Amino acid sequence: MSTDVAALRLELESRGIDVLRLIYADILGTTRAKDLLVSQLETSAAKGATFCQGVWVTTTRGGVLDGNDIMSSGLPDLIMKVDPSTVTLMPWEPGVALALADAFDPDGSDSVLSPRSVLKGVIERYTKLGLVPVVGPELEFYIAERGENGWRRVIETTGRVYTSGACVDPKGTFLHLMRMLDQMDIGVFAGNHEFSPSQYEINLWHGEALRAADRTFLFKSAIKDIVARTGQLATFLGKPWADEGGSGFHLHFSVTDESGKNLMVTPDGELSGTADNMIAGILGHAASLVAFTNPTVNAYKRLGPDTLAPYRANWGHDNRSSMLRVPPERGSGTRLEIRVGDGAANPYLIIASVLAAALDGIERALPAPPSAEGWSYENESAEILPTTLTHALDELETDVFMKDVLGAPLVDVFVLLKRDEVARYEDEVDDPDTRDVTQWELDEYLEAY
Ligand code: GLU
Ligand code: MG
Ligand code: MG
Repeated sequence: MSTDVAALRLELESRGIDVLRLIYADILGTTRAKDLLVSQLETSAAKGATFCQGVWVTTTRGGVLDGNDIMSSGLPDLIMKVDPSTVTLMPWEPGVALALADAFDPDGSDSVLSPRSVLKGVIERYTKLGLVPVVGPELEFYIAERGENGWRRVIETTGRVYTSGACVDPKGTFLHLMRMLDQMDIGVFAGNHEFSPSQYEINLWHGEALRAADRTFLFKSAIKDIVARTGQLATFLGKPWADEGGSGFHLHFSVTDESGKNLMVTPDGELSGTADNMIAGILGHAASLVAFTNPTVNAYKRLGPDTLAPYRANWGHDNRSSMLRVPPERGSGTRLEIRVGDGAANPYLIIASVLAAALDGIERALPAPPSAEGWSYENESAEILPTTLTHALDELETDVFMKDVLGAPLVDVFVLLKRDEVARYEDEVDDPDTRDVTQWELDEYLEAY
């Protein structure tokens, strides 16, 4: 769509769109929105929509945290300006279009707490090296409906259901979703029912990292919205049911040169030095990285032996039991797949932190350890990943490189929000060490993610 606001208004009006919904991801990764009337767009979009900086320090429960710079400076304005290149239709809500917004402080500078700005900063570090990061996101989610005791899966069969057809989509919600997403310009191409009852996966094409993060954010927001319209719930929470599979947010990633040539492979089909360095960077920062890839107390209940989610900081060739899998494809599709993240991760921050960790490996030309062979859960040569969010946050706080690349202000506020979450969990749950999924987690996270 058009990049000029006046032309954008005319274009939207010619398509019968009278409301432009401006959205952005807060630090937790949840969707914030403001609806702009298209008739007023030239004034409102030019000035920017005003929010309060409190959105950066709001917990999942809605309360604003104190003890941070934003509160002590009196909750100043946050200005959101539309990025016209991101406008996409909202086919389940005729007459409304979506657009992503960038966040600015009142003095006109980029907000250092904006996850989208943070990702742009990391990509910039690659650009300076002549590298272009490419990302392919892959997310799983559950569909639930209201039962007597709260949300429950739509399909509760005990058999495995890795198949398709009405037996795994009794209300047609999944097909409806696929069709709606097809009408958005976000690169959805396929989908399937996953291993566990009522669990699905929908595939997005890979692409340039910022656009991939934008598309993933639009994808998650759209799925939650479309499913909510049917009276059901879509949840990307990592482990909503203790006795069923978790929902992963796998990231495929690679780098090309400025001409688009894949730099992960040698001419004879071996992994390149760059790929090796990126593996080393990821594994070297694995313990702090998981704070962003697995940002809830619930996430650590998904990670464990024999889950298809990793449990150790290791890598392997086409090995789904390791944290980093190298898919077998070679040539322009040569890439790494990081399998640790879950769907509650903020799309901007998971991509920013994975790329940041890999960058350290590239910049220091770090060598990767030997690859894991076979079912690698029991292979003790690799460290176990943090088993709690607290452990991951402790690692993040002392990771000087990650703090430098992602920016200390963002890391500090993220840690503050997450420590508050852990404190509330530990206060309110009888046995915080339980591997069961508690009612607290369902109340805190199920609808939010
Ligand atoms: N559901 C698994 C996870 O939690 C992944 C299954 C798959 O490989 O598709 O990561
Ligand atoms: Mg899957
Ligand atoms: Mg995968």
